[in-house]
Amino acid sequence: MNQFEGQPSIRWSLAGINEEGDEVYLIRGISRKLYRCPGCHGEIEIGAEHTIVQYVHRLGGTEHHHWHGRCAEELLVPELRGLKRVPAGESSQGKLEARGRRKSGQRRR
Ligand SMILES: [Zn+2]
Repeated sequence: MNQFEGQPSIRWSLAGINEEGDEVYLIRGISRKLYRCPGCHGEIEIGAEHTIVQYVHRLGGTEHHHWHGRCAEELLVPELRGLKRVPAGESSQGKLEARGRRKSGQRRR
């Protein structure tokens, strides 16, 4: 963590690999309903800017969670390897979910 902040923006998402080898994307989002942050168990209010954490599992499949930007930066980002910025347009939830489905097919043995 040096050239950039540990939070995604409108233009940039962040991508890294966690301990299990899953791809983890941090995407800036605006909440459309009330979410509960897994980091602090506090509420993320409707309309609040926050971080969507999208997992693309090594063995296929995806899942996502809604985090406070600050909680994700403090709790999640330090556990990720190879953190890099990726253009937000190439890391939309829809694209990542499609990627999870492809991987699932390719990698199953
Ligand atoms: Zn939080």
